[in-house]
This record gives sequence, structure tokens and C-alpha cells, in this order.
Amino acid sequence: MSTLEQLRFDNTYTRLPSVFYQRVRPTPLPNPHLVSFNAAAAALIDLDPQESQRPEFLAFVNGDMLLPGSDPIATLYAGHQFGHYVPQLGDGRAILLGEIRNSRDEKWDVQLKGAGLTPFSRDGDGRAVLRSTIREYLCGEAMHGLGIPTTRSLCIISGNEMVWREQPEPGAILVRLAPTHIRFGTFEVFYYRRQFEELRILADYVIDHHYPHLSGRDDRYTGLLHEVAVRTGQLIAQWQAVGWAHGVMNTDNMSIVGITLDYGPFGFMEYFDPGFICNHSDRYGRYAFQNQPDIGYWNIRAIAQALSPLVAPSDVQAAPDVYEHALLDRYAELMRAKLGLLESHVGDDKLVTDLLNLMHANRVDYTTCFRMLAEFRQDDPDGLAGIRTLFKDSDGLTWWAERYRARLAAEKSIDEERRRRMNAVNPKYILRNYLAQHAIEQALRHRDYTEIERLRVLLADPYSDHPGMEDYARPLPPECPPIIVSCSS
Ligand code: AMP
Ligand code: MG
Repeated sequence: MSTLEQLRFDNTYTRLPSVFYQRVRPTPLPNPHLVSFNAAAAALIDLDPQESQRPEFLAFVNGDMLLPGSDPIATLYAGHQFGHYVPQLGDGRAILLGEIRNSRDEKWDVQLKGAGLTPFSRDGDGRAVLRSTIREYLCGEAMHGLGIPTTRSLCIISGNEMVWREQPEPGAILVRLAPTHIRFGTFEVFYYRRQFEELRILADYVIDHHYPHLSGRDDRYTGLLHEVAVRTGQLIAQWQAVGWAHGVMNTDNMSIVGITLDYGPFGFMEYFDPGFICNHSDRYGRYAFQNQPDIGYWNIRAIAQALSPLVAPSDVQAAPDVYEHALLDRYAELMRAKLGLLESHVGDDKLVTDLLNLMHANRVDYTTCFRMLAEFRQDDPDGLAGIRTLFKDSDGLTWWAERYRARLAAEKSIDEERRRRMNAVNPKYILRNYLAQHAIEQALRHRDYTEIERLRVLLADPYSDHPGMEDYARPLPPECPPIIVSCSS
């Protein structure tokens, strides 16, 4: 375990051509205080959690004190936003302090999100608000707990600076960790500027650092595109299987290493609704839940296009299909596991779809339904235990359950083993919007951050029963109006 001073900082990105980034100094928040510290993320950079108690820690994460080897920059990128190409975006409020190499020889970007203006801030103020940093912090940990690749967060700090969104809100800094923050849009900016040499340098950088098995190979760029397509497909399959919507799947929010990146107005579905739109500003539902696989396809076309100067036309053309196969295979696998099935049989996809349709028609909570299905008993004439209470259409459910029973029999499924398997893949706890909202309100009204900590610990282990935490597994209480999340963060 390292002290702050022992962290081994470097910034390999600054050894790329200067057009890739701009050097910038963070603008610290006045009178900062620690809102939440994530020991699990500290372990990724070998940081001793006790270090979070030191005043120097606050100075470090506030951008006030630079550690040796760190070289703060804002990186350049572009991207397709809601289908339209925006030629220059870049880190408008995120500052990359550098990278820390841990004892396992993994490299972690350390980025301050909300640390002030950069040359890419455009009309923005360079700040993040406490509300949205809490959401990003908690969701990153929730996704990680669910086994979904994601950026992580080391901590949140807030300070005496109000930031104007629809109203004044406390400013905050989220300290984000990721293997890299490079996006599809980082490639797009050089492609559309016809800077193909820079494009090649970027591709080699990503390969050397993140796909090292491709390094030096003649077909490395094709290999890169192929792997990005596969990882992205598998990632979106995981989002679909857990019922999560990103909300802003612009190409500047798509990670080149296939991790969930840039949490904004995301949402976990409560009752199953394929048309679920979590982003208040997404008027036409471009990024609705059911559209995510198609948008992923669109985005893979965009990254394939951006890599086209380095890759044969036939491989550019093939990439979206590679993506689609990876997504469909992984989704089928995940949904079979959610039903507790070990084998793959013809008709399994229909069994899944029919259950989803029933959930949709009956407005059944997606997470609760799968969790309860583990209790299905093949020897019980009804077999459905509590699930029946979730559905208004009892006949539809009976019809489905009979097919499920036959399907389980066809692979000689053993109830107790199936139950254990299902509880290991169907979470009991997800970051329901109202739970996040409650933690945010406590933080904003009373500077009480205990609920953030409670959720962080709970969501890090979403598959176990947590005694005394039953309420946190409940679907949105019917008396609560749904919380609509705006894009402003
Ligand atoms: P996002 O939709 O949050 O992923 O951001 C899209 C682009 O807008 C990125 O280039 C961000 O850096 C930039 N941006 C978002 N919010 C701000 C802000 N408050 N100040 C400066 N730039 C911002
Ligand atoms: Mg973004």
C-alpha cells in the first residue's frame, strides 16, 4: 500500500504529438471537503485508504497539489452527437492528471472531472455539480458490482462554489479512474481532419497500451477494430441484460476499450419497458433502451469509418456484423443464465421474449421478477411462489410457466442448483433512481453523506442478501412519481 508521495505517476499521453492534448492547470474548488472516498477504487492504484484522511489528499484531488510525474492535460476529441458530427469537443471539464502504474503492472488514468475550464470548455463552465457526481460515482460502483466493465471513481469532493444549472447547485469534483478515457471520438477527430498520420499514432498507442497482443503485427489495425467491435457488442449485451440505459450514446461517450463511460442521465429500468427513455432531453428516443443495440451498430460503423485509412475496406464493412454477432451471442448467453438454463435449446430466445412481453404488458419490475424466478419449483403445481403477485395477467403467466417447467425438465435441471446459479446472476439490488435521489437530497440538504456510503457498499455486492436492507430492493414505491433526469450535469 502506497502513501500519496509513493504513487508512481506518469503521463504517456503527453509523449504523443502536441495536437492530441492541451496542458492545463486544474482550478481548485474553494474550501474543499471530502464527500465520499472509495477504498475499493483506492486499491486499484495501491493507495492506502488511510491517506484519504490527510489534508494533502484533499489538495491532491482538488488539483491544488501536483504529485511528481503528473502532467495535467485536457485531451482532444470530436464525436457524433445525436447523429450529427461535432468537429471539436475534447475534455471541457475533465483534466487528466496522469497515469498510475500499480504493483500488478496495470495502468490507471487519474482524471479530475469538474476541475475547471480547459481550452475545450466551449460554452461550459468546466464544473460538475454534486448531484451528478454522486450519480456517476454510485453507478460506476453498481456496474462494477454487476460485473459490467466501467470507469471507477476514487472519491468525490465538494467546495464552496455554486454552479448554475437550472438552479444554483454545489460544485464538485469526481476523481475518475479508468484504463483509458480514449473514445471513438478521439479517432474521429483525426479522421475527419484528414490527419491520418496522427490517426495511426493514436491507433498504435491504444494497441500498445490496451491490446498489447496485437502490437507489432501487420494486421494490428484490423485486429483493433475487430476487438473494439466485439467488446462493444458484449458490453451493450450486458447493459440490455441488466436493464440499463446509458442515455447519451454519442460516439464521444463510447470507450475504445469497451467500458461504460461518461455517466449522465443513465437509468436502470424499474418495470420492463423497451421504450424506456432515461434522458429528459432525448425527445425522439434515439437512445431509448431498446435502441441501444442498433445505436451501438451505428457507432461501430462510425469507428470503422474513422479507422478506414488503416484498415481494408472489407474489414471496415465487416465490423458492424462482428459487433452484432458478439452482442447477440452474449445477450443470449446472459438471458439463458438469467433463466437458470445451462444448455442452449432451440426456442430459448422465444421463451425469453415471451417473458419480457408479459413483463411489459403487466408493468412488472424487471429486477424483482428475475430475482423471484429463482424460487420457481418444478414439483409444485403452480411453482411460481410470489411471482404471481407481480402479474395482473395470471393466465399468461401460467402458460409461460408451463413452458418454463418443460424447458427445465428437458435439461434435467435441479431446482436448488438452479436457484443458486440464478441468484448469482440476477441482482437483488440495483441503483434505482429514487435511491440515488434520496442520497443526493441528504447530501444537498444536510451535507449528510452517509446514504452515499450505504449505497456504495450495498451496490458493490448486489447479488447477496443484505439483512436489514430489504427496502433497498423494492421497486419504485407507487406513490412516488418517476424521477426524470435532465442532461445537465
Ligand atoms: P457529455 O455530454 O457530458 O459527455 O459532454 C459532452 C461534451 O461537453 C464534452 O466535450 C464535455 O467535456 C463538454 N462539457 C459538458 N459539460 C461541460 C461543462 N460544464 N463545462 C465544459 N464542458 C462541458
Ligand atoms: Mg462525454
